[in-house]
Amino acid sequence: MAKQRLVILGGGESGVGTALLGKAKDFEVFVSDKGSIKEKYKNVLIQNEIEWEEGQHSELKILNADIVMKSPGIPDKGEIVIQLKEKRIPIISEIEFASKFTEAMIIGVTGSNGKTTTATLIHHLLKNNLDIGLAGNIGDSFAKQVLEKNYPNFVLEISSFQLDGIVDFNPDIAILTNITPDHLDRYDYKFENYVHSKFQIVKNQSNEDFFIYDADDEVIINWMKDNTIQSTLLPFSLSKKLKNGAYLEKNKIIITIDNRQITMPTANLALEGKHNIKNAMAAATVAHILKIRKQTIRESLENFQGVEHRLENVLTINKVEYINDSKATNVNATYYALESMDAPTVWIVGGEDKGNDYEELYPFINEKVKAIICLGIDNEKLLKSFGNMVDVIVETQFMSEAVKIAYKVAEAGDNVLLSPACASFDLFQNYEDRGRQFKEAVRNL
Ligand code: ADP
Repeated sequence: MAKQRLVILGGGESGVGTALLGKAKDFEVFVSDKGSIKEKYKNVLIQNEIEWEEGQHSELKILNADIVMKSPGIPDKGEIVIQLKEKRIPIISEIEFASKFTEAMIIGVTGSNGKTTTATLIHHLLKNNLDIGLAGNIGDSFAKQVLEKNYPNFVLEISSFQLDGIVDFNPDIAILTNITPDHLDRYDYKFENYVHSKFQIVKNQSNEDFFIYDADDEVIINWMKDNTIQSTLLPFSLSKKLKNGAYLEKNKIIITIDNRQITMPTANLALEGKHNIKNAMAAATVAHILKIRKQTIRESLENFQGVEHRLENVLTINKVEYINDSKATNVNATYYALESMDAPTVWIVGGEDKGNDYEELYPFINEKVKAIICLGIDNEKLLKSFGNMVDVIVETQFMSEAVKIAYKVAEAGDNVLLSPACASFDLFQNYEDRGRQFKEAVRNL
């Protein structure tokens, strides 16, 4: 029988992972990237004798595909994608492709914010009891891990772009952390399209599968009013008592599943901030479903070190705490960062604006922020939004300078918080680069 032709658009982590898995499963594989492919990925393709191209999409080699894997970074609007759709060639995501080749129990985490933190925390809670891989947007691609490790269990961080390309993918446990506007440029600027995309995570679930979600999130609740979900529901909430699921009472998290209950005091959680209580609730609910010992769950929540660039404590200098939240690339993430500040804060903010509306941050500015340092190429909007609200507001285009100014302004007992609420690409390679430069500047003080 002739081999099935698998064409992969995008030669990054998920593209190359899919290529390796496809080749091992006897597909005829072709990788096409309109940009350039990183050296390390080219080497993998060459070593494995996989055909590839860069700088173009050759129609002759793509439109003859039986199946196409489109990497998450490639928009639907691209010419080649439109042509593929016209020819009715199936286009799927890496998660869809790879999940066909594993029998593993899958825990899928999606949401606008908190995916990495929650997925990593789940992995941390389960890893001593289960042989479990962590993949998706984290580390090695899911496809590559299915091929090389084939764990019996996986926790996956799943973006909306990955969910757009699923057909049969069905996580045994799905988590939706929250939904706030993000990436709208990829969804025709229609929030409802983005919401729909996030809910794809439950579309193949039955009542034997679990759906864990934020019951305080109005967007989620409203969608669920209008749509039927088959999954067994396990909501979590900071504000209401729940019969099944997780809620907060007198600074204790209480999680109930079929009358099995676990409680734990929030004071013992390693990660700070209300949003992290929610992340902890979601992760602990997963562990409780899987009947992990209560003691193990409690201890793991207490000793979780957090993830780099997410409210990461860098150093304390002259009793001033420096906190790196470079991953806060939208207003909602920064909202939770400011909310969690328990001392007067010098706030470093700015970057590439995504159509931000800063109004929801105003109460925190009045209450906690003593100085604002705008770090971006264009700081106009920040100056306009916050100019009248604090005594000190300055701008710079250098991280080292931003940190030096913060050092001068901050007094013993204060915090210095980098939580940009914006993308990083105007001044930095990415948010990791921005966070690392911040940490280096702090260490050089
Ligand atoms: P994602 O992978 O969805 O981008 P991360 O865990 O990397 O999420 O966190 C991104 C940013 O959002 C960080 O600034 C983090 O402090 C903040 N954050 C984490 N969890 C939540 C949450 N549940 N709600 C809102 N913001 C959150």
